[in-house]
Amino acid sequence: MSFTASVISTQEWGARPPKQWQSETIPQYIIIHHTATPNPPNDLSRGNLASARELARSIQQAHMDGFGWVDSGHNFLNTTGGILLEGRHNSLSTIKRARSIVSAHSGNTKGNESPGIENEGTFTTYQMGARQWNSLVELCTSICSSAKISPDNIKGHRDFSPTQCPGNWLYSQLPRLRQEVRKRLGEPSWDYLREGSTGLKVQELQQLLKAQGFNAGPIDGIFGAGTREALISFQKFHNLEPVGIVGPATWELLTKESKAPEKPTPINLVDTYRYYRSLPHQDQAIDWLRQQVSPAVLEQFAQKWRNEISQTFLPLQEGAVGLEVKQVQQRLLALGFNLGPADGIFGAGTKAGVIAFQKAKGIYADGIVGSKTWTTLNLS
Ligand SMILES: [Zn+2]
Repeated sequence: MSFTASVISTQEWGARPPKQWQSETIPQYIIIHHTATPNPPNDLSRGNLASARELARSIQQAHMDGFGWVDSGHNFLNTTGGILLEGRHNSLSTIKRARSIVSAHSGNTKGNESPGIENEGTFTTYQMGARQWNSLVELCTSICSSAKISPDNIKGHRDFSPTQCPGNWLYSQLPRLRQEVRKRLGEPSWDYLREGSTGLKVQELQQLLKAQGFNAGPIDGIFGAGTREALISFQKFHNLEPVGIVGPATWELLTKESKAPEKPTPINLVDTYRYYRSLPHQDQAIDWLRQQVSPAVLEQFAQKWRNEISQTFLPLQEGAVGLEVKQVQQRLLALGFNLGPADGIFGAGTKAGVIAFQKAKGIYADGIVGSKTWTTLNLS
């Protein structure tokens, strides 16, 4: 789902320009606050739009002139009437792009890198009204959806610094808030991976990306810029929203693709292997070849090599090269057929020798070593 909450922008409520523009962050949490101002019927916003705008302006003034901050400290404001307003400039447009604006609501860097929602009122024992609650659910759902934040990561201000905020009652309602957001999102809770994430699952992500041809750099379990770029390419390639964050849809596609059955190797590996075995630089050539095929194919190859050797390389005919040709030549020479040097190259001389041998044994004389000629030569 998309960002459905209706939020009044800083421009719309007549915010002062910030003293300084703030940089973007990659948010992981939503942080819930209360303004610690009077509850209805003495609430500052009076449940109407004009007063809501006025409240936003007065909070900005208090934060800038009173606290000396560069702008409003919070990212969003939810009034008693359920009217939602942008706090710090650009909070609304950036959250729709899965980013947040560095803010000042939570008293520490970790919290300030994620969006903070101020709820008008004092919720120590006072219970939030339905309109304000519904707007809070709507806004949290929109943020979780657009910024790929798990509802599990909806936190209270007190989870980040020593404070009573957002009041005992509202803090006690966070499990219900998370549950309602989960229900609205309609998807199971998900441990999103994003820039800054670390660990085994990130390592797995990097391996999956690499396996599908998206180079994420070193497989180090650290989700950095390289992993993000590779992920965005993957998401674009599969027509997913290219946010650079791994959610359930991206993960499903990553793992499904990698479980696709292996394509059969079109070349005959046994032939290729045998051909290079008789050439200079054979070890390098074979090493290279080995790196190009999966362990499953190599295993298959090894089984063939061990069990079906007399079947897989026959017939030998003019143009063939390798150890088996040399064996045929040595055997023919030993039996008295003159065909020149035993050099492992099936040329005209070898062919003539094979024809002479076939005639002598009453085998169809085509100059090709099939299984019958091979067996008759006592080479199997
Ligand atoms: Zn707070």
